[in-house]
Amino acid sequence: MSDAATATAPSVVDERAQVGVDERAQVAVDVLAKDAIERLAAIAREFPRVGFASSLGAEDQVLTDLIFSANLPIAIFTLDTGRLHADTVGLIDRVQAHYGKRLDVFRPVDESVQAYVTANGANAFYESVELRKSCCFIRKVEPLRRALASRDAWITGQRRAQSVTRADLPLREHDATHGIEKFNPLADWSEDDVWTYIRSRGVPYNPLHDRGYPSIGCDPCTRAIRPGEDVRAGRWWWESSDSKECGLHIASPLPGAAGESATAEPRVEPRIEPNSPEVNLER
Ligand code: SF4
Repeated sequence: MSDAATATAPSVVDERAQVGVDERAQVAVDVLAKDAIERLAAIAREFPRVGFASSLGAEDQVLTDLIFSANLPIAIFTLDTGRLHADTVGLIDRVQAHYGKRLDVFRPVDESVQAYVTANGANAFYESVELRKSCCFIRKVEPLRRALASRDAWITGQRRAQSVTRADLPLREHDATHGIEKFNPLADWSEDDVWTYIRSRGVPYNPLHDRGYPSIGCDPCTRAIRPGEDVRAGRWWWESSDSKECGLHIASPLPGAAGESATAEPRVEPRIEPNSPEVNLER
């Protein structure tokens, strides 16, 4: 065998092997998608007023595609905090144009935002954890509470593989904060499953994911991460890791508060103490 042949053969084998892996991954994801649709349909049958809280993250885009493509009777809503990246706001329009269907968009109460800005400044969230949580409460927690007020259950895109603290994430749980059932139909999906689904089906996604933003929140509170950093490192990067929550997926009831909206990245779930306006919806 010539040197040239020796050098060429492995790459051909590797290429075919790669195709084989991709094909297997595709088949596996097709099975997962079929199961997920059955899960979603069952949820909709049991809870006719169920809503899906989309953060517009990658997992949420998968769920949106499953719900819209299968014509499932599940309302999809998202929160526009007023401080999102232009790419994230643009994704709302792209999703609606792609599927020809609308997302329900919940926004903070103008008066509350104005009062906060007047009293503290537009970017006061950099000054203390308390001011940051207050901003998250006004822009995320309260709107989520409104969004869930008419729902008898809600759906998120959380996955077990997102963090060790979610290793036991159930497909179904009771959300004591909002007093309704909560479902995580992608709990057993991997990161690769999510992206195989998105790439193979041409699902619209936030271009920030391609620019170093695995976890996307509000523009002033999210930065791109560097190689080797935790996927949550870009969120509220100026704070210590144990305070990085905005309160949308907390497990314990909040005093007069609601949860956070959408979904989806590895993080440590801190205990929410009474009188702490924490919530935790992935943005
Ligand atoms: S993530 Fe930042 S800008 Fe967005 S609601 Fe929280 S503190 Fe406010």
